[in-house]
Amino acid sequence: MKRVLLFLLIALPLFLLAGLYFLDKDYFLCPIEYKAGIVVRSDKRGSGLFGAERSGMRLHQGIDLLAPVGRHVLASRSGRVLAATRNHGMGKYVIIGHGAKMITIYGHLSEIYVSRGKFVRQGQLIGAVGKTGNANYRDIQPHLHFEVRKNGVSQDPLEYLQ
Ligand SMILES: [Zn+2]
Repeated sequence: MKRVLLFLLIALPLFLLAGLYFLDKDYFLCPIEYKAGIVVRSDKRGSGLFGAERSGMRLHQGIDLLAPVGRHVLASRSGRVLAATRNHGMGKYVIIGHGAKMITIYGHLSEIYVSRGKFVRQGQLIGAVGKTGNANYRDIQPHLHFEVRKNGVSQDPLEYLQ
C-alpha cells in the first residue's frame, strides 16, 4: 500500500507536468521561418487570416503564410505523416498527426519531401511552398496554407504560433 502511494506521489505530478508540456501552445513552431514576424497573405482575392470569408459562404479554415515559391516548409511539431498527397483544392498537401487529436495541415505545396506513415521531428523539412490547388491564380500571392485542428475542429493557428 505504501509503495502504491509513493508511486502515485511521484508518478502523478510527472504525468501532469508532461500533460501541461504537451498542452503548451508555444510548442508549435512556425512552419515558415520569418526574420521579423509572421506575414499573412492579403491580396485582391482575399485575406489569409483564419475565419476570412471564402466563396460559397465558406470560412478560411487556416492561415496563409506569405512566402515565395520554393521556400522551406517545416513540421510545426513532431508527429506522424497521415497524408502526403494532393487534391483539387489544397493541391499538394501534407497532414501530420501529433497525438491528443491534434493535426497540422500544410497546403498548396510545390514539393513534398515526406511520405505517409513516416515520423517527422519538429522543424524537419517536409516540403516547399507552391501554388498548387486553388492557389493557382496569378493574383494570389504565393503562400503556405497552414491549419491546426483539434478533435477535427479548425483552430486559429496564430494562437498556437504566437
Ligand atoms: Zn489558405
